[in-house]
Amino acid sequence: HPVPDYLHSLLESLESVREGEVAQYIPTLATAEPDRFGVALATVTGRLHSAGDDQTEFTIQSISKPFSYAAALSDRGVDAVDEMVGLNPSGEAFNELSLEEDSHRPDNAMINAGALATHQLLVGPYAGRQERIDRFVDLMSLLAGRSLRIDRESYEAEMDTADRNLALGHMLRSHGIIHDRAEDVVAGYIAQCSVLVTVRDLAVMGACLASGGVHPISGERVLPSLVTRQVMSVMSSSGMYDAAGEWLANVGIPAKSGVAGGLLGALPGQVGIGVFSPRLDEHGNSVRGVEVCRRMSEDLRLHIMEAD
Ligand code: GLN
Repeated sequence: HPVPDYLHSLLESLESVREGEVAQYIPTLATAEPDRFGVALATVTGRLHSAGDDQTEFTIQSISKPFSYAAALSDRGVDAVDEMVGLNPSGEAFNELSLEEDSHRPDNAMINAGALATHQLLVGPYAGRQERIDRFVDLMSLLAGRSLRIDRESYEAEMDTADRNLALGHMLRSHGIIHDRAEDVVAGYIAQCSVLVTVRDLAVMGACLASGGVHPISGERVLPSLVTRQVMSVMSSSGMYDAAGEWLANVGIPAKSGVAGGLLGALPGQVGIGVFSPRLDEHGNSVRGVEVCRRMSEDLRLHIMEAD
């Protein structure tokens, strides 16, 4: 079959790429097997292909951000979420302690400050810590088409070293952007980052965004199309950390990366892509993941700005 063959040859041609470093800040990431490599492609019409380490589970980390944003947008409405989280690239590190000047909103939902604000918005104003976590895990399970779970070890390790996220949480609470205890919102956000996924899960989740919120396999509507439009817009401008502009020009697929080495792409009306390879470049994006997407964009003509 042409698609699986293509995916296999793509992985093979990039196996010799050994640049980059596995994330070091917690033991569960520092001890990841650096040579793991998997890719999956899901069409909006429900075809799913994968190659390499496509059964390996890894923590979703920052790739959770577009989905908690999607959940908050559907639970609270676009206007209510826009009031608390901006839509512009920050031009700063993902965990920077900074907010928009007058509104005190985080710049966008793809940086940690914005992800914490987004997590607080899940479900409704009176929801508690566990309800918000359940909402997130349930949505992710629905999108993946299987029951997903939180990796306790990663969760505990992140909680032990959460000072930066706690600082962000306290800063947000001092400005009324979150109203629960910073500890509870940070714990929820870290739980959301600790959900275990495979590249096949990521590809299907991406295809769900790409299809305007209709699940590519079940055919069920999971998210409103206005929500997926907004999520993919923010992913385009802010999804790849400081490399977002370069990414848009060179790859041209709305995408989000995570510090465990996962990468999710979503090309509107067409496909979702999932890649996993733990070595990261200086921006924090998977080295091979970036290269896989760049090649696919070129070989399959997926660049969103390509006219013909
Ligand atoms: N859990 C990590 C954090 O909050 C996620 C970071 C990432 O994937 N960039 O710092």
